[in-house]
Amino acid sequence: MAYMRIHCGDCGMVKEVHKYVPDDTEVRYCPLCGSEIDRDIWETMIIPAVELLNKANRAFIAKHTEENTTPIYIDVIADHFTRDDM
Ligand SMILES: [Zn+2]
Repeated sequence: MAYMRIHCGDCGMVKEVHKYVPDDTEVRYCPLCGSEIDRDIWETMIIPAVELLNKANRAFIAKHTEENTTPIYIDVIADHFTRDDM
Protein backbone atom coordinates (compact mmCIF):
# COMPACT_ATOMS: atom_id res chain seq x y z
CA MET A 1 0.00 0.00 0.00
CA ALA A 2 1.24 3.47 -0.83
CA TYR A 3 2.21 5.89 1.90
CA MET A 4 3.67 9.36 2.15
CA ARG A 5 6.68 10.52 4.11
CA ILE A 6 6.62 13.95 5.73
CA HIS A 7 9.86 15.70 6.71
CA CYS A 8 9.67 18.41 9.37
CA GLY A 9 12.16 21.17 8.64
CA ASP A 10 12.03 22.48 12.22
CA CYS A 11 12.98 19.39 14.24
CA GLY A 12 14.08 16.88 11.59
CA MET A 13 11.30 14.41 12.36
CA VAL A 14 10.39 12.08 9.50
CA LYS A 15 6.85 10.79 9.72
CA GLU A 16 5.37 8.11 7.50
CA VAL A 17 1.66 8.36 6.89
CA HIS A 18 0.27 5.02 5.81
CA LYS A 19 -3.36 5.89 6.12
CA TYR A 20 -4.92 9.29 5.92
CA VAL A 21 -8.29 10.87 5.85
CA PRO A 22 -8.33 14.03 3.73
CA ASP A 23 -9.95 16.12 6.46
CA ASP A 24 -7.95 14.60 9.33
CA THR A 25 -6.37 17.55 11.12
CA GLU A 26 -3.92 15.60 13.32
CA VAL A 27 -1.88 14.31 10.39
CA ARG A 28 -0.92 17.89 9.48
CA TYR A 29 0.99 18.38 12.76
CA CYS A 30 4.52 17.21 13.55
CA PRO A 31 4.23 14.75 16.46
CA LEU A 32 7.58 15.92 17.87
CA CYS A 33 7.52 19.73 17.72
CA GLY A 34 3.94 20.52 16.74
CA SER A 35 4.76 22.36 13.51
CA GLU A 36 1.73 22.54 11.23
CA ILE A 37 1.47 21.82 7.53
CA ASP A 38 -0.48 24.64 5.88
CA ARG A 39 -4.07 23.47 5.64
CA ASP A 40 -4.72 25.05 2.24
CA ILE A 41 -1.61 23.51 0.64
CA TRP A 42 -2.42 20.15 2.25
CA GLU A 43 -6.02 20.09 1.04
CA THR A 44 -5.65 21.67 -2.40
CA MET A 45 -2.32 20.20 -3.51
CA ILE A 46 -0.93 17.36 -1.38
CA ILE A 47 -4.03 15.19 -1.02
CA PRO A 48 -5.07 15.51 -4.71
CA ALA A 49 -1.48 14.82 -5.84
CA VAL A 50 -1.17 11.68 -3.71
CA GLU A 51 -4.57 10.41 -4.79
CA LEU A 52 -3.82 11.07 -8.47
CA LEU A 53 -0.45 9.33 -8.33
CA ASN A 54 -2.01 6.32 -6.59
CA LYS A 55 -4.67 6.27 -9.30
CA ALA A 56 -1.99 6.40 -12.04
CA ASN A 57 -0.05 3.54 -10.46
CA ARG A 58 -3.24 1.46 -10.24
CA ALA A 59 -3.94 2.25 -13.92
CA PHE A 60 -0.46 0.98 -14.87
CA ILE A 61 -1.19 -2.30 -13.12
CA ALA A 62 -4.62 -2.59 -14.69
CA LYS A 63 -3.06 -2.14 -18.15
CA HIS A 64 -0.37 -4.66 -17.28
CA THR A 65 -3.03 -7.14 -16.23
CA GLU A 66 -5.28 -6.60 -19.26
CA GLU A 67 -2.75 -5.91 -22.01
CA ASN A 68 0.47 -7.38 -20.65
CA THR A 69 2.21 -3.99 -20.77
CA THR A 70 5.23 -3.34 -18.57
CA PRO A 71 4.25 -2.97 -14.93
CA ILE A 72 5.43 0.46 -13.81
CA TYR A 73 5.41 2.12 -10.40
CA ILE A 74 6.19 5.78 -9.85
CA ASP A 75 7.32 7.33 -6.57
CA VAL A 76 7.77 11.05 -6.05
CA ILE A 77 10.93 11.95 -4.16
CA ALA A 78 10.81 15.56 -3.03
CA ASP A 79 13.58 18.08 -3.47
CA HIS A 80 14.60 19.29 -0.04
CA PHE A 81 14.45 23.01 -0.67
CA THR A 82 15.68 25.64 1.73
CA ARG A 83 14.78 29.32 1.63
CA ASP A 84 18.05 29.92 -0.22
CA ASP A 85 16.61 27.99 -3.17
CA MET A 86 13.62 30.34 -3.54
ZN1 LIG B 1 8.87 18.87 13.87
